[in-house]
Amino acid sequence: MSAPASTAQASHPFDLAPALAERRRLHRYRQRLTQTAPAGRQARVDGRHYLNFCANDYLGLANHPDVIRALQDAASDTGAGSGASHLVCGHSYHHHALEEALADATGRPRALLFSTGYMANLGIIGALLDKQDAVFQDRLNHASLIDAGLACGARFRRYLHNDPASLGAQLDKAGDARRKLVVTDGIFSMDGDAAPLAALCDAAESRDAWLMVDDAHGFGVLGPQGAGTPAAQGVDHRVPVYMATLGKALGSFGAFVAGSDDLIETLIQFARPYIYTTAMPPAVAAATLVSLRLTQAADDRRELLAAHIRRFRDGAAQLGYTLMDSATPIQPLLIGSDADAVALSERLRERGCLISAIRPPTVPEGTARLRITLSAAHTPQDVDTLLAALEESAR
Ligand SMILES: *Cc1c(COP(=O)(O)O)cnc(C)c1O
Repeated sequence: MSAPASTAQASHPFDLAPALAERRRLHRYRQRLTQTAPAGRQARVDGRHYLNFCANDYLGLANHPDVIRALQDAASDTGAGSGASHLVCGHSYHHHALEEALADATGRPRALLFSTGYMANLGIIGALLDKQDAVFQDRLNHASLIDAGLACGARFRRYLHNDPASLGAQLDKAGDARRKLVVTDGIFSMDGDAAPLAALCDAAESRDAWLMVDDAHGFGVLGPQGAGTPAAQGVDHRVPVYMATLGKALGSFGAFVAGSDDLIETLIQFARPYIYTTAMPPAVAAATLVSLRLTQAADDRRELLAAHIRRFRDGAAQLGYTLMDSATPIQPLLIGSDADAVALSERLRERGCLISAIRPPTVPEGTARLRITLSAAHTPQDVDTLLAALEESAR
């Protein structure tokens, strides 16, 4: 039997072009925009200004003068780079001060800095679990959590989104696992909704499982002084592993985990993405500490943000857009097809609003969306401009 002509000649295994062409055909091709403006309410791309509705700088702190000055001053003192990993000689007093402040801010005994949130998740899950164990993840968890769960070698189970009963059923089937770790986003990064933490704690605690919350989008935004989603839901003391990032509401860079002394010591000893990497520049830690202080005192910014969220939701609902169940600055508009989402993103861009189309595999098939994010850096008029652009684009 002979193969059809088109496949008769096996292509070279490193012929990369077909997969790229396929991605283009699906309207899933990713392209980077080159920014020339600082983070904030505006973006500048190819010399043109846009209102920026796709950054995660929720409180508008990424370009705050005090944060910038702290970065500059600390760089003058400590240089541009840390010079080594934390365990060799790269752990500076700026890192240490930030860790102490983060432990304090989250009401936990200790905190540990990681260079990125992605690495923190790989490090935490990899240090806590191996093949004797089981990990349970919400099916809409962030990619870094999913990757960490797959890489750690533990039995990997996904439960239905925000469904404690589905989690409970999965936990009940894992009786022989040594450790059981339940992992959830605090605020779901592509949907903006919050995890029902009390019910997840109930399900976990009754089966001797631990709960880990990745609060990349809640820390700084929700709860008293921005302490995060567990604090906002009154379950802070029931979350033994609290992770959040520093590149979103805090407007800086990096991530941390907060928890017990034993948890942090375990990570220092065993978390490979902590051990085998260069420490973040000390000046970044110094700037982040200033940003943390601003965040804690930023009730005015959180109130402004909440007002923007209400203004946007009221306006978009009137225009007939499908809103998602989100009370947070992440306000996705569900579009469905990849091509439609890309087309709407382009029409909004022509009207001066920068919003990226989020497509599979970042979100499930058939749920392409515009992920609109609001910031305290915006003005009420900016939100109105966005609504007007949405109205014109829908026509
Ligand atoms: C952004 C994000 C991360 C990754 O954090 P980085 O510091 O950007 O690597 C992890 N988890 C969630 C939920 C995120 O949104």
